[in-house]
Amino acid sequence: MSRLVMKFGGTSVANVERIRNVAAHVKREVDAGHEVAVVVSAMAGKTNELVAWCKEAGSHFDNAEYDAIVASGELVTAGLLALVLKDIGLKSRSWQGWQIPILTDSAHGAARIAKIDGSALVDGFNGGEIAIVAGFQGLHAPSNRVTTLGRGGSDTSAVALAAAIHADRCDIYTDVDGVYTTDPRIVHRARRLDKISFEEMLEMASLGAKVLQVRSVEVAMVHKVKLFVRSSYDDPADPKLCTLICDEEDIVEQQVVTGIAFSRDEAQITLREVADKPGVAAAIFGPLAEANINVDMIIQVVSEDAATTDITFTVSGADFERAKKIIEARREAINYARMNGTEDVVKISAIGVGMRSHSGVAARAFQALAAKGINIRAITTSEIKFSMLIDEPYTELAVRTLHSLYGLDAR
Ligand code: ADP
Ligand code: ASP
Ligand code: MG
Repeated sequence: MSRLVMKFGGTSVANVERIRNVAAHVKREVDAGHEVAVVVSAMAGKTNELVAWCKEAGSHFDNAEYDAIVASGELVTAGLLALVLKDIGLKSRSWQGWQIPILTDSAHGAARIAKIDGSALVDGFNGGEIAIVAGFQGLHAPSNRVTTLGRGGSDTSAVALAAAIHADRCDIYTDVDGVYTTDPRIVHRARRLDKISFEEMLEMASLGAKVLQVRSVEVAMVHKVKLFVRSSYDDPADPKLCTLICDEEDIVEQQVVTGIAFSRDEAQITLREVADKPGVAAAIFGPLAEANINVDMIIQVVSEDAATTDITFTVSGADFERAKKIIEARREAINYARMNGTEDVVKISAIGVGMRSHSGVAARAFQALAAKGINIRAITTSEIKFSMLIDEPYTELAVRTLHSLYGLDAR
């Protein structure tokens, strides 16, 4: 008998009718003889609503209460699915994070799973019971508080649970039938990939493809979880093709570029006429690091007079205001003339393990974007990806251009 984890995202559990559809998928696997743990997200839009209520109530800065509130969406769907399953004659029960328990660190809002004790769930399997687990949440045991794993965190709940109970497979059901060469909602000619390597998926996810939470891919890679992305819109009686996330060695035909990702959650800050002397970069980036602000791209322009320089860097949109305040407060220590900033930028990235063995891949992109009149504000490269910062209005044009350039368009 094999054991599997099935995870259903927000649109897949958006209302009771959709939850009945989930139950039909679960029934198929149970009828096939599998032991099943199901991880559910909150109904589509629910978490956003809860986050908005937190902001409205002003409790924004109490991270523990924020987690107590936003974790509630998943409790509802877990209970509802258990009810619907009983209705079709299947034995099941719901599990909240703390009941299992799924233990995490204390980083409210972005907690990391430390340990999952799967024994109670396994006992349930032995009694023929399906486990319905609320995703996205855990328990910080020393403080006895509920935590959440960051937006999109139910993916990570599912993969970590699969590792903990030694599941043979983890199926992530969502509103698309797999991982595509780019977001299929932006590029209609995007193609579904049969397979994508862990490393490429990790880059795709961290560079903006929200189909899987980054952390879930890391956990799958480390614990060798067999991970699939598939559609809950498939006929439950006749599931279709999907995408397997696997080791690079298991992929026979490698493209140079596997996918294009983009992230709108970027902000650019430029400091003008910064004194060009040793210690300036430390004066700027030290305080940002201390405030846990991640700096991504950095450009320093060599000045003509050798006395001053311009420094441009990017942070996530969420950190923009905070970063500006920190730099403003250190104006004298850093010694700059002016600060400009904008959130109207987007980071476009091309990802592919083939870049290790091919040169000139990025240069082709620079030419192609130039030909479309798209200005590149900043560039970063690493072994299997490169990213470019461009003006937000050009997002779709740039993604489509690169998608065609690297031969990714569906025919
Ligand atoms: P869920 O609620 O099921 O967790 P998400 O909205 O988090 O679903 O993730 C699915 C969405 O990810 C898709 O609807 C799609 O628009 C988006 N997406 C972005 N990039 C990709 C990609 N490369 N392949 C597939 N989907 C992608
Ligand atoms: N409901 C949470 C969110 O919207 C977690 C998830 O769906 O994965 O971020
Ligand atoms: Mg998601």
